[in-house]
Amino acid sequence: MAKVLKATDAVIVGLGWTGAIMARELTRAGLDVVALERGPDRDPAADFALPAIRDELRYSVRQELMQDPKMETVTLRHRLDDKARPVRRFGAFLPGDGVGGMGTHWNGNTFRFLPSDHNLRTHLTERYGRARIPDDMTIQDWGVTYDELEPHYARFEALCGVSGKAGNIGGRIQAGGNPFEGPRSGEYPNAPLVSSHANELFRRAATELGLHPFPAPASNSSAPYRNPEGAQLGACQYCGHCDRFGCEANAKATPLSTLAPALGKAPGFRKVTNAYATRVLYDAQTRRATGVRYIDLRSGETYDLPAEIVILSAWVFGNTRLMLLSGIGQPYDPRAGTGVVGKNYCYQIQPTVQLFFKDEELNPFMGAGGLGMVVDDFNGDNFDHADLGFLGGGYISLNSTNGRPISFRPTPPGTPAWGAAWKRETAKWYRKTALVLCEGMNYASRANSIDLDPTYRDMFGQPLLRMTFNFTQNDRAMADYLLGKAAEIGRAMNATIVAPQPRKGDFNVVSYQSSHNTGGTIMGRTPADSVVNRYLQSWDAHNLFVLGSSVFPQNAGYNPTAAAAATAYWCADALVKTYLKSPSPMVQL
Ligand SMILES: Cc1cc2nc3c(=O)[nH]c(=O)nc-3n(C[C@H](O)[C@H](O)[C@H](O)COP(=O)(O)OP(=O)(O)OC[C@H]3O[C@@H](n4cnc5c(N)ncnc54)[C@H](O)[C@@H]3O)c2cc1C
Ligand code: SF4
Repeated sequence: MAKVLKATDAVIVGLGWTGAIMARELTRAGLDVVALERGPDRDPAADFALPAIRDELRYSVRQELMQDPKMETVTLRHRLDDKARPVRRFGAFLPGDGVGGMGTHWNGNTFRFLPSDHNLRTHLTERYGRARIPDDMTIQDWGVTYDELEPHYARFEALCGVSGKAGNIGGRIQAGGNPFEGPRSGEYPNAPLVSSHANELFRRAATELGLHPFPAPASNSSAPYRNPEGAQLGACQYCGHCDRFGCEANAKATPLSTLAPALGKAPGFRKVTNAYATRVLYDAQTRRATGVRYIDLRSGETYDLPAEIVILSAWVFGNTRLMLLSGIGQPYDPRAGTGVVGKNYCYQIQPTVQLFFKDEELNPFMGAGGLGMVVDDFNGDNFDHADLGFLGGGYISLNSTNGRPISFRPTPPGTPAWGAAWKRETAKWYRKTALVLCEGMNYASRANSIDLDPTYRDMFGQPLLRMTFNFTQNDRAMADYLLGKAAEIGRAMNATIVAPQPRKGDFNVVSYQSSHNTGGTIMGRTPADSVVNRYLQSWDAHNLFVLGSSVFPQNAGYNPTAAAAATAYWCADALVKTYLKSPSPMVQL
């Protein structure tokens, strides 16, 4: 029997980037807000101090800051006729847990999506004709445009003190930036990070090939920076322990470093940690969310927290699962093509090229999360697909992120995987190797989806989320194309050994690829094609809002957090300026 708590104005489930942004905006508007977070609280000064925070075994291998699959995991099948099996150890992607969510242990690459990523179906139809989009490629427009989101992208960049070089300010192309990006209202708040030697080899080669290299925009502050919330960031130390770790220099923008100080002072804000949400309380007759049910993981008690507004910001899996468990919206059926909740689950495809240089010293141990050199020439629809057998693309980059002793052991093809020869080769090449990465997009396809698993359950006996996912023909053709381009850059860098690593076979959950999962509660134009409208407001309950990359109808060839944050700001703006004045559906059909 649940204990009913005192009602609040708004309850937020999940306190990562998107939940923290919404909490800040709603408390600024004067609302009482309770944020429920299933994981623990974190204090960067105490928890991320040297030397403990550089413990690779603890944070990277044993994944201390991440979701514990023993408590809740997902199951995976590649095809609709397969039986799904539980993922016992997260590998391909690493869901977050605790205040700050994944934003605590992200890298900080802070890319805006291309304008055409936001109106993809319209864009591709206009350029190539409707017949060019395969029937089972269930891509669609977001319902909100890049131009509408631009101020919100800019706001997130200011919050994080992003280090970068603009390529297009107000339609004017800027030397040294990304000429393919959408028009921006201004320059990045910080200058780019100091480039590595490997970055410079990449830049030179890409330029010689006629491409347009630019420094990756990074939420690793290149200089001390005070953000508009009054939070002070330090300067990045290029420590090489960024992704999977907290930042001891407070230079990485995270929800803890950028928003928590202001939230801590906000009257009306309260966070409840170790609070595992199990349901959105939903009144189907009045079509309203009435609050959230959660279990206190320390006491085992169940609570109902009534609220006027419910926000889901529990990432792709949490958002979709809570909608399904709560019976809100019609579950997607991939065979019939009906329903929406769980539809258009997408990932990314990332072929890589490992380079080895006999005569270069690359010192990989000096790096930063978002330190990279990038070309966008083969991303999205930045190149002509008329004569190609696929749609989409991805950026190609050389990232100098880390050379950590346990997991950074690249060796040339043919090297034995253990023993004296392996030791000799790792020592020989450790300082002389770099990886070129292709961040291949993944367009929605009819079968790739998420639903509730009929067999496997979590620690409280609730169905786990089941992922049906595999790479499509389009993904594989695109990945091969990108890989060819990446290898060409590697050869132009005069690498001694160029070792392409194609993505072959079925999607596997063992090796890390990216935590850039999207979809499941997608946005769109009508209840028939989406879970939420253009303001991320549920079609089935006007006081329920869903944030994060679960609302993207398909994935892009970029890291997704800037787009997730921009849409969270966009949603908050609509909520505060429009919804609070007259609580009702903000899109009338
Ligand atoms: C190693 C790594 C590197 C990355 N690098 C980059 C990068 O360079 N650039 C980029 O753009 N992105 C990167 N990402 C992805 C990025 O971190 C995420 O896109 C972003 O942080 C997601 O924010 P969010 O608020 O949507 O979700 P999250 O940060 O996942 O927050 C959701 C929160 O909800 C909580 N929650 C879930 N279910 C429940 C429940 N039932 N009850 C209560 N709480 C719940 C979780 O504990 C979590 O804290 C990286 C991710 C990882 C893991
Ligand atoms: S690389 Fe820079 S931003 Fe990342 S953890 Fe190290 S000091 Fe912090």
